[in-house]
Amino acid sequence: MSAVIDASTRLIGILGYPVRHSLSPLIHNTALRSQGLNAVYIGLPVPPDRLGDAMAGIRALGFLGANVTIPHKEAVLPLLDSLSGRAQAVGAVNTIVARQGALHGDNTDVSGFLAPLQEHGSWLRGSDMVVLGAGGAARAAVYGLCAAFAPRLLTIAARRAAPAERLASGMAALGNVGTVLLPDAAPQMTSARLIVNATPAGMHPGAGETPWAERTVFRKGQLVYDLVYRPHETRLMREAAAQGARVLGGLPMLLGQAAAAYRQWTGKDMSKAAVEQALEQVLKKDYLGASN
Ligand code: NAP
Repeated sequence: MSAVIDASTRLIGILGYPVRHSLSPLIHNTALRSQGLNAVYIGLPVPPDRLGDAMAGIRALGFLGANVTIPHKEAVLPLLDSLSGRAQAVGAVNTIVARQGALHGDNTDVSGFLAPLQEHGSWLRGSDMVVLGAGGAARAAVYGLCAAFAPRLLTIAARRAAPAERLASGMAALGNVGTVLLPDAAPQMTSARLIVNATPAGMHPGAGETPWAERTVFRKGQLVYDLVYRPHETRLMREAAAQGARVLGGLPMLLGQAAAAYRQWTGKDMSKAAVEQALEQVLKKDYLGASN
């Protein structure tokens, strides 16, 4: 079912710079059309020095809400009227919802990240974990893991010490969070039940890359969760699986964070089947070498 764009069409968008490669317009427009909702989701490329103007525009134009991506996830916080507890704790917003003229910030990356881990919840609780990377996705992952599973020790392994230490100290109140430089992380990787890749290493078009090239650290039963969703199966996932580890890719997180935002904007559950089908068409092109 497809709604006609007319004078009552409501707007949703993604604020980022650049946004050209974002899959969010495809995801949300597919979902909106499949439910016949009179709204459209557009890319909103906003340079860092125009974020304030763009937020004034979101208010003035009566947007239903927006997503926020790199480089605005942190800078947008002071421009909002209220924040969810998790957005406040993570220090980043990926979803804005208009509520009676006020703009509320949330972080649905956290629930999207946790969704595929819930079935492993009792096994993960109180265990050792490693998060590779210390950027925005790592921030959501570290917060989510501490809040949901109270790890015995969560180690942030990053190629630069300062961002890892900043992230660890920001989360210190939530649990036992340590840091290690990425090349020295083999002992923590081997003993971890869960390893999360929150770096872009291995992402299309650099699919030959991996954040961790030493295959022998992986072991049977371990869970290796790569937040990269493009390609579906990364080099890290292939090499971990070859050593007997269980693997998870980033697509469920992408869909989970989108569905949680969509629910807040529309009050409806996203039709995942329609969205998965549309995404499959686009992601298939990566393997054929077509441009995206
Ligand atoms: P970000 O804020 O730029 O942080 C990237 C982190 O990865 C930084 O710590 C960076 O280190 C590190 N890094 C970059 N390249 C690396 C490499 N080759 N080897 C080791 N470390 C490297 O980016 P982000 O927002 O956290 O996103 C990270 C990735 O997560 C994205 O590229 C995407 O694939 C994935 N992600 C997935 C979802 C999803 O829904 N599935 C959502 C968000 C993000 P430096 O500081 O030293 O550069």
